[in-house]
Amino acid sequence: MEPELEHALCATRSWSSLGEPESPEMSFLDQGDSTSWPPPAVTTSSKRIHGKRGVKASRWTRQEAVEEREPPGLGEGAQSRPAAESTGLEATFPKATPLAQDVPLPRVGASSTEWDLLLSDCAASAVDSSTDDLELDFEFPGSEALGSEFQDLGEDNPRPCPSPQVPLLSLSWDDELQKPGAQVYMHFMQEHTCYDAMATSSKLVIFDTMLQIKKAFFAMVANGVRAAPLWDSKKQSFVGMLTITDFILVLHRYYRSPLVQIYEIEEHKIETWREIYLQGCFKPLVSISPNDSLFEAVYALIKNRIHRLPVLDPVSGAVLYILTHKRLLKFLHIFGALLPRPSFLCRTIQDLGIGTFRDLAVVLETAPILTALDIFVDRRVSALPVINESGQVVGLYSRFDVIHLAAQKTYNHLDMSVGEALRQRTLCLEGVLSCQPHESLGEVIDRIAREQVHRLVLVDETQHLLGVVSLSDILQALVLSPAGIDALGA
Ligand code: ADP
Ligand code: ADP
Ligand code: AMP
Repeated sequence: MEPELEHALCATRSWSSLGEPESPEMSFLDQGDSTSWPPPAVTTSSKRIHGKRGVKASRWTRQEAVEEREPPGLGEGAQSRPAAESTGLEATFPKATPLAQDVPLPRVGASSTEWDLLLSDCAASAVDSSTDDLELDFEFPGSEALGSEFQDLGEDNPRPCPSPQVPLLSLSWDDELQKPGAQVYMHFMQEHTCYDAMATSSKLVIFDTMLQIKKAFFAMVANGVRAAPLWDSKKQSFVGMLTITDFILVLHRYYRSPLVQIYEIEEHKIETWREIYLQGCFKPLVSISPNDSLFEAVYALIKNRIHRLPVLDPVSGAVLYILTHKRLLKFLHIFGALLPRPSFLCRTIQDLGIGTFRDLAVVLETAPILTALDIFVDRRVSALPVINESGQVVGLYSRFDVIHLAAQKTYNHLDMSVGEALRQRTLCLEGVLSCQPHESLGEVIDRIAREQVHRLVLVDETQHLLGVVSLSDILQALVLSPAGIDALGA
């Protein structure tokens, strides 16, 4: 790691300092020592119920119940954890170029004294509670004022921008980054660890690479998960992830026509698919340690162009959680409200140019799903604005929506139109979630966080497409650009 960045990140607390070894939470983590491996598609769930960190983590619980809504799944299985070699981040950091002065940050965590005080109040109510019915209030230790500000967040009450009478200089994004306070989110993410953003309890589905790919995708649907770490029992380690993009790649490669059964999807094991598709050049698993900063997590996700970042226990190698852009943005959105508000949040999307505005990948509503899959594979974008013949945006087809083909066992009907697929989608969002160029960055962030989607489509007042503002663009702008890092463009 570059020395500047190392210095910038060194304030991050270490995993070992997060809790006492004897704390129940650490005991939970120690359960990962089992050498036996569960049958494929076993669901594991992790529950931290009390202890210093447990108190803090439980603050996330109610939020999670809302934000981690998933397609209806089947039941949960036994807990089990493999021993695995710990895998480091694939990416190395480019040189960071700190720009502005340090801004004092409130921390999501607290000093040990503060935690000790809280512990006695909260542990009793947390113990023996299922995480769903924990009724602990969100508190920000040491500051009642901040605590009440936090409660406002729950009511989606963003702080207003200054009135329009206050003249805003027309500055570029680069100029904005030179202003004092522009690095506030970068610092915040450097100051907090992946552990801070992990859920207290979440479902984790892990697949053995010997599992048939068809069963794996059906199991993803049945368990309502979007991705699963892959366990190689010969190597005794996690070797990759299985995501909806992989389902798309399999369909794209093997689909012939609606009349021909996709033999490979029925027969191939995950391992066979990986050997054929990756042809020997196996990308190592990109993972992160709970000790690493959220800044590093944002970098790893964007730099590697992935959407799932497993957090591995550095001791046992067990997967503790899977971080996503959504989770990171939500964390920043909630706790960022306690930070000094940078002026760029009041600037419009148009002025700041955050997003993609050229060479947009789109699909016609009348086009077959197969065309959408081709575009996903060729362009590697996470979603396609769906347009009608007049060029107006009428919907959005995301990679996520492709899993409905597995859910409905209709993956042999890729001649179906995208419009029809959107209509058949269960649990779908009505219409398209969009923003307009005159809206401020702050408004866009509030909406994307509230709606829990990965992007907004930028349209004009006649619904014609102007761009895409994705969580990757927002996290790049708020967290990496102030450090002089362009992971998205690189
Ligand atoms: P999706 O958006 O469908 O969830 P991703 O963008 O995360 O998918 O995945 C893109 C590709 O990268 C897939 O082939 C997936 O298997 C792979 N991949 C995803 N996450 C990781 C990871 N943490 N390490 C290695 N490969 C990954
Ligand atoms: P993921 O959690 O895998 O990143 P996405 O946010 O891409 O998932 O998609 C989740 C669901 O939300 C999908 O059904 C998708 O079509 C829908 N969706 C995502 N973004 C939008 C949007 N801007 N407008 C309408 N629907 C959207
Ligand atoms: P994402 O894959 O959504 O995390 O975004 C990665 C980058 O691709 C971001 O810069 C997005 O703005 C851009 N992007 C997302 N969707 C599209 C699309 N349909 N066409 C062009 N660029 C896109």
